[in-house]
Amino acid sequence: MTEPGRGGKASAMKKLTGQDRSITTHWRPATQAVRGGTVRSHFGETSEALFLTSGYAYDCAGDAAARFAGEQKGMTYSRLQNPTVEMLEERLALMEGAEAARCMASGMAAMTAALLCQLSMGDHIVAARAAFGSCRWLTDTLLPRFGIESTIVDGRDNDAWKAAIRPNTKLFFFETPANPTLDIVDLAAVCRIAKDAGLLTVVDNAFATPLLQRPMDYGADIVAYSATKMMDGQGRVLAGAVCGTDAFINNTLLAFTRNTGPTLSAFNAWVVMKGLETLDLRINRQSENAMKVAQFLDGRVRTLYPGLASHPQHELAMKQMSAGGTIISIFVDGGRTQAHGLLDALELVDISNNIGDSRSLMTHPCSTTHAGLSAEVRAEMGVEEGMLRLNVGLEDPLDVIDDLDRALKAVGL
Ligand SMILES: *Cc1c(COP(=O)(O)O)cnc(C)c1O
Repeated sequence: MTEPGRGGKASAMKKLTGQDRSITTHWRPATQAVRGGTVRSHFGETSEALFLTSGYAYDCAGDAAARFAGEQKGMTYSRLQNPTVEMLEERLALMEGAEAARCMASGMAAMTAALLCQLSMGDHIVAARAAFGSCRWLTDTLLPRFGIESTIVDGRDNDAWKAAIRPNTKLFFFETPANPTLDIVDLAAVCRIAKDAGLLTVVDNAFATPLLQRPMDYGADIVAYSATKMMDGQGRVLAGAVCGTDAFINNTLLAFTRNTGPTLSAFNAWVVMKGLETLDLRINRQSENAMKVAQFLDGRVRTLYPGLASHPQHELAMKQMSAGGTIISIFVDGGRTQAHGLLDALELVDISNNIGDSRSLMTHPCSTTHAGLSAEVRAEMGVEEGMLRLNVGLEDPLDVIDDLDRALKAVGL
């Protein structure tokens, strides 16, 4: 790898024997999720070792100097390199089909770093209107403070992306499916528009993960994750990651992160790796469960789920994704009062704003995840007062349906 002191992955780790990437790259994503990037110590442990260390010792002063000069491969400090974190980074890159990946302390650290590492005063970006609340805060509030302008478009409208391009536009930024409106962006078409204009695309793929959708297969340049969601998948740790080319990750991004420090802890990296081992099982079962729950809800209340034919972009979603995912949004006519009433009547499903958890969770975006946005921005995004977002977990879907049925009846629906 190109960055001095990066550690050179497995090969450079003293007494560690790594797998040769040339042997493992052809494995399919579900296999990578279990085995990709594994590096075993001389003990031959089967489960990945947890290296809880902030620093590294050198055999002699000359080695320390050589390592800092980038002349000797090896680790120097865990803000820069850590064997456990590097295993996860290699695993995510292999799952994504990317040249490289870098982990971050949270999904928002990943989004912030992916944007700030490459943008400067005077630049312009185009972003989709439907986005995670904090992503909208980045584009609407943080970037403008540093002289970086953004144009917000309806991500479903391919022509709008093209029309928003200016001479100083640097990149497109969007998520698909988007949170919580489940808008779908046409990955192939929008990445093509960006490429033709010489722009990069940054895709937030938290909802789908590489097991349901790989944006790079459609031309995306940079894929960023909240690994807090499906990747950990059991509601334990915060984590994030950015995937891209070797040059982008190890030059542009690393220069930013090694000096600003949004580093993922080795412990959290280890927990996420344990999560990845079951990601394929969980995301497919949770998608199946979500489909059953969505079929129950559809007709009873206005329901949005990419796997349902009633979703306005169902065909596009199914072209890009191998399953509908775990998130359903519903709309009740009685606004916040009825939405809160429904939440308060739930017995099994928790009132919680996380997603990707193995537990079913429901939230009212207007008063929680998207409460920080102005009413106008929420209206523009389609986040209505009567909207509820449901993450379908691993419980028996019939129990989730029973719970929702009772809660809907309790508010007269
Ligand atoms: C949760 C989420 C984020 C932020 O991730 P954190 O790990 O909570 O910082 C960003 N984008 C999407 C789509 C998310 O769902």
